[in-house]
Amino acid sequence: RGKRAFIAGVADDNGYGWAIAKSLAAAGAEILVGTWVPALNIFENSLRRGKFDESRVLPDGSLMEITKIYPLDAVYDCPEDVPEDVKTNKRYAGSANWTVKEAAESVKQDFGTIDILVHSLANGPEVSKPLLETSRNGYLAAVSASSYSFVSLLKHFLPIMNPGGATISLTYIASEKIIPGYGGGMSSAKAALESDTQVLAFEAGRKHNVRVNTISAGPLRSRAAKAIGFIDMMIDYSLENAPLQKELTADEVGNAAAFLSSPLASAITGAVVYVDNGLNAMGVGV
Ligand code: NAD
Repeated sequence: RGKRAFIAGVADDNGYGWAIAKSLAAAGAEILVGTWVPALNIFENSLRRGKFDESRVLPDGSLMEITKIYPLDAVYDCPEDVPEDVKTNKRYAGSANWTVKEAAESVKQDFGTIDILVHSLANGPEVSKPLLETSRNGYLAAVSASSYSFVSLLKHFLPIMNPGGATISLTYIASEKIIPGYGGGMSSAKAALESDTQVLAFEAGRKHNVRVNTISAGPLRSRAAKAIGFIDMMIDYSLENAPLQKELTADEVGNAAAFLSSPLASAITGAVVYVDNGLNAMGVGV
């Protein structure tokens, strides 16, 4: 039987989530995605109208099929958590069952089990502010959307994950080294995500024989990264200073994710795997 993957955080064809979906599809996996509720309509319409067809092409020439798209807002665990203004917001009112718990229940109803869970989402409303100028709410929102969202996804999807399964999240080196400009508590959120990767590897490994790893990815011109505002500078910096002087493609991260979620990586868990042309290994710029 082929593997089934649920990838949370796909809303266009520019980000890491899309590339991971493609690499998993190329390896034979069935693809389910979770799309942020406010982005759902545009994503579904663009997909239907063929806007992504060029980037759906897999190495064998076929097109990636997404079996089902689930609405998701990973900052809410269950319906009781959703505030009234969000419930009645017209971008949300048109969709149903998009809290983490309900999304997991829907996937269970539709497909029974999954093998691979991917968390490719982050949000920091104050990301452009230095940490010293970040509000408590902004900081907590960054951690809620970017770190606890993974704890919550794993908690709710673990019961429907087949033993031997694997989970992947995406992190950034700003968790451990100073990257001015990656503010709003996003550096703190990535540090939490990486620490949680270890603790959750232990808990999910013992409980369900599921592996938990995170990819520390180099800079990519995704929608989220463009919103931060310094992505071109980070790409140039990497080109100048990394051991491998080439622009990082999303596919390279996708392929690493496919490896990490495959039996080839059956002894790898609790790891931060750098997919960044080696930039993390440099001590100084050159
Ligand atoms: P992206 O814009 O493609 O992905 C982010 C996704 O998160 C979007 O689809 C957005 O709709 C979704 N999202 C935001 N809030 C959400 C919520 N509450 N519930 C559900 N979905 C939500 O951008 P990306 O850069 O590919 O980001 C994917 C992951 O890669 C993130 O964790 C990011 O921090 C990480 N990353 C990115 C870079 C980079 O340079 N782009 C580098 C290292 C790590």
